[in-house]
Amino acid sequence: MIGIKSPREIELMRKAGEITGETLKYLATKVKPGITTKELDKLAEDFVLKKGATPECKGFEGFPASICISVNDEVVHGIPGPRKLKEGDIVKLDLVANYKGYQGDSAITVPVGKIDDKKKYLIEHTEKALYKGLEAIHDGCHVGDIGYAIQKYAEEHNLGVVRELVGHGIGTQMHEDPDVPNYGARHTGPVLKEGMVIAVEPMLNLGTRRVYLLDDGWTIITADGKPSAHFEHTVLVTKDGYEILTRR
Ligand code: MG
Repeated sequence: MIGIKSPREIELMRKAGEITGETLKYLATKVKPGITTKELDKLAEDFVLKKGATPECKGFEGFPASICISVNDEVVHGIPGPRKLKEGDIVKLDLVANYKGYQGDSAITVPVGKIDDKKKYLIEHTEKALYKGLEAIHDGCHVGDIGYAIQKYAEEHNLGVVRELVGHGIGTQMHEDPDVPNYGARHTGPVLKEGMVIAVEPMLNLGTRRVYLLDDGWTIITADGKPSAHFEHTVLVTKDGYEILTRR
């Protein structure tokens, strides 16, 4: 069942989304060579708490940190630790902030200093693929319309579309119905209605779409070791389109 949010719930989700977006914007300014992912995690946690929200990932199914931080060939769900970021890395910051019981979920991919052209290309087109997906959203669209738009754009740009992980409905829970895959066919899947809230989050790879799970039980990495990028917004479905709740 896909829930329709009440005006009061939408207001709370706007606030959760605003805090999520602000935190990522702030955190991106702190990404530089030499900082550890654990230090970024602490900055994120402090910022979220200062805004009156809590980092939802902390303790979620046992996740040990406040934010997922994934570097280069790590696709998503990287665990912050002593790793120091290096010039030329790309880093994915994926945050869920809980404000009064409602969630905002967003991710960005940030360059560390100067990066090569291939990584620039990957970041640019992964972000554009997210917006292609969002443009498919309106009252009455199918979830498959979103996946179709993302997959089409990604494959036209020779990027691998990760299939094992998908976007999702969101509300009081981080993950609600429906699944929102980054691939699919038009006019298939559940119909979206005004007042539903979903997170759309393409994960695109410079090489193969194949990924696997590391022994830490969390980190997903690309099978060929090539870099991956990730962008995500939480959006409200409206009559004519969508409203981004996690604006930066
Ligand atoms: Mg998400």
